[in-house]
Amino acid sequence: MIPNKWLFPYDHNFDVDAFLTGLPSPRAKDTPKLAAWIQSAARENDLNPRWLLLTAEKEQSFITRRSGGQGWERAVSWVMGYGATDSHDIPRYAGTEQQVRSAAKGLRAYLTPGHKFYVGGNVGKPYRCSDGYYTPQTLAEAAQLQYTPWVKYLPDTVAVWESLFGKEQDDMITKIEEAEPLFQQARLRGETRTTLNGKAFVDYRGRSLLTAKGMCSAAQRRATEICGQDSGPFSCCATSTGQHLAGAGKRIAAIAPGALLVFRLSSPICRKCKQGVGHIVAAIKRLPDGDWLCGENTSSDSRGVPLAPGFKLSRLSEIDPHGTRLTGIYSLQQQLSQASYVPGGIVVKINDVAYLGYFDGTDAWLCIRKPDGMPHKLKVRSTAEAAGCVPPAGVVKAHFAEDPRTVYVYGPWKVPAGAVPWVRG
Ligand SMILES: [Zn+2]
Repeated sequence: MIPNKWLFPYDHNFDVDAFLTGLPSPRAKDTPKLAAWIQSAARENDLNPRWLLLTAEKEQSFITRRSGGQGWERAVSWVMGYGATDSHDIPRYAGTEQQVRSAAKGLRAYLTPGHKFYVGGNVGKPYRCSDGYYTPQTLAEAAQLQYTPWVKYLPDTVAVWESLFGKEQDDMITKIEEAEPLFQQARLRGETRTTLNGKAFVDYRGRSLLTAKGMCSAAQRRATEICGQDSGPFSCCATSTGQHLAGAGKRIAAIAPGALLVFRLSSPICRKCKQGVGHIVAAIKRLPDGDWLCGENTSSDSRGVPLAPGFKLSRLSEIDPHGTRLTGIYSLQQQLSQASYVPGGIVVKINDVAYLGYFDGTDAWLCIRKPDGMPHKLKVRSTAEAAGCVPPAGVVKAHFAEDPRTVYVYGPWKVPAGAVPWVRG
């Protein structure tokens, strides 16, 4: 089935120029205006720009074919196959830009209720094509059949879509620690470029961040964008990015999945900010031996998997063997509490008095010393809430932003007997 979102609405996050450059498509060089034509035609007609690329590829292999050779002139003149009917061509639709604009306008007509070419009435009913009947399940399928009335070409639409944009992901990947292992797997499969959430893993010039090397900042910036997070703090180099992240209050106390780690590196010097460029990686997960697995783009060929320079997963102990270069740990997650989801000691403040607590990775506990000396613990949230620490009388909240690793309890929960006062140090 062809989902409607492939056809509409307009996706302002999709950059046609970056896509063609990153593919790479020969059209990025020999037809430099194609990207702008597609982008504006899609915007003006509220269509997904990918559908116009898909159509050009399906009709004439125009996105991937080399220039020249047999059929090239026809491909240029009838890029979208619009007005090139099975019986004759309609001359006023000839020409690359004319094709893009006319096809987009035509598709919009198919989607506009009241227009004489509106296809909404065809959905769910057998539709007569040149090679038999087909019952379109979506507006996009009905529009596709109006455009090309052949049942046998419908599977091509899906195949070409997947060849250009990758297989559909059921859910958007929004965590860097989930996205970056997928980039590494793509590279291990020998892919030279990859797409996630419909966005290519390329830098702003369209270079693949899988295979280009020494692109540490660009790789983390793009992973951040692909995951739908704010890439605003990213700057000219890792060092400067770290400074911006610190300024934005994104510094966290301990490494957590998805955290960005910035390292000192005295050379080379960044041309923009004149500091050592440094290095930036993303923490993926803690390994059984306590080391951290990190995603990075590097020119190093002596660490990580795969060894070759480019995007890879490396151990923190390989990146910073002596633990002397790490200058900051940052989290872009909106919920900063995520960043503190590392098991260990915490502070439990009950009505502003601090007690010793423990966080096990899921729940916060209050440490209790029983009269017989046996250690005991109470689950903070459920116990406090059962005692009435819920709005409006009270509240229990993990407040990691200003005061790392502290759980605050306000309200009618009396301090349990045996609670151990927390002492700094
Ligand atoms: Zn810089």
